[in-house]
Amino acid sequence: MTRSSPENPLLKIDALPDFRRIGPEHAIPAVDGQLQLNRSLIDELAELDTGGDDARTLFARVVVPMERARQRLGRVWSPISHLNAVMNTKAMRESYNACLAKLTAYETELQQNETLCTLYKQILERDRDEGSTLARDQRRLVEDAVRDFRLSGVDLPTRDKERFSDLMRELTATQSRFEENVLDATNAFYHVVTDEAELDGLPDHVITRAAEQAASAGDPIGSAWRFVLDLPTYQAVVKHANSEVLRRLFYEAWSTRASDQGPHAGEWDNTPLMGQILRLRGEIASITGFDSYAGYSLATKMADSVDQVIDFLEELVARSLPAGRKEFQALVDFAGHSLEAWDVAWVVERVRHKLFDISDEMLRPYFPLARVVDGMFALVAKLFDIRIRRDDSVNCWHEDAQYYVLEDADGRARGGFYMDLFVRPDKRSGAWMDTCVVRAELDGMTELPVAYLVCNFTPPSGDQPAQLSHTEVLTLFHEFGHSLHHMLTRVAYPSHSGINGVPWDAVELPSQFLENFVWDREVIGMISGHVSTGEPLPEDLLDRLIASRTFNAGMAMLRQLEFALFDMRLHAQAPPSADQEAQQIAHTLTGVRNKVSVVPVPDFNRFPCSFSHIFAGGYAAGYYSYKWAEVLSADAFSAFEEEGVLNVPTGQRWLHNVLEVGGARDAMEAFVGFRGRPPTPDALLRHSGLTAS
Ligand code: ZN
Repeated sequence: MTRSSPENPLLKIDALPDFRRIGPEHAIPAVDGQLQLNRSLIDELAELDTGGDDARTLFARVVVPMERARQRLGRVWSPISHLNAVMNTKAMRESYNACLAKLTAYETELQQNETLCTLYKQILERDRDEGSTLARDQRRLVEDAVRDFRLSGVDLPTRDKERFSDLMRELTATQSRFEENVLDATNAFYHVVTDEAELDGLPDHVITRAAEQAASAGDPIGSAWRFVLDLPTYQAVVKHANSEVLRRLFYEAWSTRASDQGPHAGEWDNTPLMGQILRLRGEIASITGFDSYAGYSLATKMADSVDQVIDFLEELVARSLPAGRKEFQALVDFAGHSLEAWDVAWVVERVRHKLFDISDEMLRPYFPLARVVDGMFALVAKLFDIRIRRDDSVNCWHEDAQYYVLEDADGRARGGFYMDLFVRPDKRSGAWMDTCVVRAELDGMTELPVAYLVCNFTPPSGDQPAQLSHTEVLTLFHEFGHSLHHMLTRVAYPSHSGINGVPWDAVELPSQFLENFVWDREVIGMISGHVSTGEPLPEDLLDRLIASRTFNAGMAMLRQLEFALFDMRLHAQAPPSADQEAQQIAHTLTGVRNKVSVVPVPDFNRFPCSFSHIFAGGYAAGYYSYKWAEVLSADAFSAFEEEGVLNVPTGQRWLHNVLEVGGARDAMEAFVGFRGRPPTPDALLRHSGLTAS
């Protein structure tokens, strides 16, 4: 049977995406079609006669259809954006970028639509006049929407409005180029080792993979090892390679990605893009009436001001610096000589080994991926009274990916998620959760939430099943925490459902919260078992693992504080001119490092050039969110420490106060609802061993 125009699989939005059929050619027509529908709706709303409507009627006539339009567009776009991240091809990248430009234009046009904004404002006015007839979540949704209209320049004169949309369009495109440069620069690097002695110290699984890579590039097995620059390989080399030459080579390649330095100097240099991104953001802030982009960014966050954030970070610096200095000195003493940047992780591993006789590689066999996943599911099943089961009938984009259904105890479906956990060359690096379907309850129809949980773990090799380091277990729990926040929501409106509408500095709360369990004795028992014997982690190894938690915690804390302060200061100052960008970025970084860093940094290090979180992602003037949310999450977990780590009522209180409410409830109010008081940093400092000075 032949058909002249086969149906576009992206338009089938009442079911899960059919990933086996979706191709780059479907993206543009589907997005165009949906945007056209949304635009006609907005035109219709502009003609609405609202004279006799009360607040609730107006909400139903304006907000509900707009929420539905948002939901449909999200369902069309999500698979495209996801495939671009996990199955990147040239064609998909082009389609993605073309769609992204269209979406940004639409988003700006929507946010600058005065008629629509007036309708939303009318709802609030009538609600006030009628003595608050809207439900609380409805009022909050409209208030947030009115705030966002303002941040998008809805009140600006026409000329400024046009400028604002140009800026947004340009910013999105520039950020996307930044990310592509990082990916291209990372993929371009490889290093071939032919002298077996150079492999000394490297874990077997890394060597095996390098041999396989060399074989597929044409070298006979055993004669050469080809190392690529993905995160697992990079980390294995700098932590374990006894060859200083090899460590330096990888450190340099990694820390100079997409810059004017290193093995591919100048080929994908992000420096001009960083300057441009900062200038675009600076102008966006000033056009909407803010002193700086940092101020603009904080308008939607839980933190109140730039000063509050800087004070928060500097207090943590002050509490961690003495420990960090002592820790670094201990590394130098151990080595018996001054340390280069590419020695630090290697010496840390040696000291860790000496103090705790423990290493990632010793622990890995006790954390087979399948066992970790089963244990993690069992933990949340108990705490939140839910069930998780695999469903192999759902089509995925790659054989490594699986689909799971999440159900209430009575078997009622609550949501679902895809897991795609292994590293691949065409996949964005790092680990993340993204939304496939957002929960919605509109006009009596309920759509259940679906998440993507993506990591880049080392795949099974030969006859060895995949095994995780303890850090990778933390990563998995982190992303699963985001997934649960997305899936367990009870919110009806997509704008506030799951992670939507949650301030950036509170969005890491559920994810970092779940990480805490990976340090608990009982939970470790649930998620570990030797890969060949199934034996539990021996008691003394477990003791040493837990004791190692606070090892070098000061240095680790300072590293994150350095990133956060660099990001906040960079966005709080006037943006650099085109001829000053490299100097200003370097100067800001040096200023922060002088106060915060205890580790030497070589001149060639160009870490900002691959700092995608703030230059390509949503963490601009928001990187502090990790620490902010970590304070909240440690404090939240301390309630479990007090009441019992597997205590079901505490789990239920967390579920109802935090996980279920999404953006529909004020983040601080939700926290206090759970904890019974405002947050304090004490639990975080205690967990990090930084309380006693
Ligand atoms: Zn996260």
